[in-house]
Amino acid sequence: MRSAGLLVLAASALCAQSDLVLTNGKIITVDERFSIAQAVAIRGDRIVAVGTNQEISQLAGASTRRFDLKGKAVIPGLIDNHMHLLRAAATWTKEVRWDGVDSRKQAVEMLRERVKAAAPGDWIYNIGGWAHQQFADDPRPFTREELDQIAPNNPVALQESYYQVFLNSKALAMLKIEAGAPDPAEFVKGSIVRDAAGKPTGIVRGDIAGTRVVASKMPRVAPEQLEASALAMVRDMNRAGLTSVGVPGCDADPLAIFEKWKAEGHLNVRVFCMGGAAAANPDGVNRAIQQLAGMKLFQGDSYIDNVYFGESVYSPLHDAMFATKSDPAPDQLEAWRKIAMAIAQAGLPLHVHAELSGTIDAFLDQIEAINKEHPIKNLRWALAHVNQINASQLERMKKLGMYAAVHPWAVINGGIMHEGDTLYKGFGDGAYDMPPLATIQNSGIMWGLGTDGTAANQTLPFTTLSFAVTGKMAGGTKVIRQTISREDALIAHTRKNAFFVFQENNLGSIQAGKLADLVVLDRDYLTIPADQIKDIKPVMTVVGGRIVYDASR
Ligand SMILES: [Zn+2]
Repeated sequence: MRSAGLLVLAASALCAQSDLVLTNGKIITVDERFSIAQAVAIRGDRIVAVGTNQEISQLAGASTRRFDLKGKAVIPGLIDNHMHLLRAAATWTKEVRWDGVDSRKQAVEMLRERVKAAAPGDWIYNIGGWAHQQFADDPRPFTREELDQIAPNNPVALQESYYQVFLNSKALAMLKIEAGAPDPAEFVKGSIVRDAAGKPTGIVRGDIAGTRVVASKMPRVAPEQLEASALAMVRDMNRAGLTSVGVPGCDADPLAIFEKWKAEGHLNVRVFCMGGAAAANPDGVNRAIQQLAGMKLFQGDSYIDNVYFGESVYSPLHDAMFATKSDPAPDQLEAWRKIAMAIAQAGLPLHVHAELSGTIDAFLDQIEAINKEHPIKNLRWALAHVNQINASQLERMKKLGMYAAVHPWAVINGGIMHEGDTLYKGFGDGAYDMPPLATIQNSGIMWGLGTDGTAANQTLPFTTLSFAVTGKMAGGTKVIRQTISREDALIAHTRKNAFFVFQENNLGSIQAGKLADLVVLDRDYLTIPADQIKDIKPVMTVVGGRIVYDASR
């Protein structure tokens, strides 16, 4: 164990008492040397010193809150560089969330509880974030009959990732999916599954386009309930150890609530938005270019800011989740390049959805051409998701000064990606390298971990860290062969992600001068058996020096 030594912000900080002092712990600082310390002192919203018990104790005075860590490990606040957090506020308290639920028995109990509390006719639902392969005790899909038995008087819609939705009879009736009648026009052709006799089985499938028809009909919380729902969501994030999130598409209504909390001094998760309107067709290209010319980023602060154009540039080139390969057309790439060229010209950072190998190559072709006219070197352009990325693409990105925002959908989709079926053929052996974590790490590129939750993936960072270290999806099945060290995984979920949200001077490590975002853990991330990483529970989460979650309370 290497001591971090006493690192102090400034001599003046020593004159004033600390507000909060944590001693007798194992402070995993995640600084550049990956130093380990015993204690940390906080004044106001910043860390003023990191060092030994003796050094830090000297900074405590009569009014200092002292916290004996009793040997517990502390890590920097976890940062997810890409989660659709604000959108989820509108449904969070209505959804039956199965993040971290690896027992089917428990999942069914949660459904039964919801049914018991619901009025007849109320929807019981969730919108992604899970897949039945995560149920270690009984990894079976749901059937219409089983859901009828659980909820005879309520419509049920359970969306598995973006793969399929399980419906009961009441839900089929509400959606007007009937035996002996044609499929309702709004559903994607072929997405409603029927048996040989034409009876709907209760399954609607077909990637995001197929599943979103059902998701769009799920009731949102009433406007006067939005704040309570957002609050419950933020509390769940803090309980999981998350303190900052990169958010594609910051929805206006929840964002206004976050702004209000910030003004009142109790915003408990930092949000860094990526926005801007993508063009949906050739006619929209010029309009998109005009809009982005007026985009103003970095007008906020370390609680809320707009930091990227993203996550889509030209939506016809938005890879579907379960497509196995892509072959972008030249005219589509031309439209993509026009918009991306304007983004470079405007000097904007770009964070763009790119999943499939064919798409990544095609985007890099365009970016290399753009780079000759408008160098992107310092604009922090990042490709997002990149589960099919390879070593030569990483090399091209490095040369361009680009970054990889890695969102392993396999954390919940691993089983689907390996199985394949009639809808979708699967990725064959290639699924074992989606994502190729060791290749990414060894490339030396700047990269960070995120989830792409709350529909495309589950949201718990220790489930993601466990996946990165063990190659096992939620529920424990090994689904990828390339794993990385727990140190590298933690760096990718903290310090590297601070860079992704343009907060590397403020966040991502426990160092004097940085904002005091940290998480006290119930067990030591660095030494417990790897299979227990997913079970780590924060006992305390601190954001800007404020205790935002305390498991004992
Ligand atoms: Zn995306």
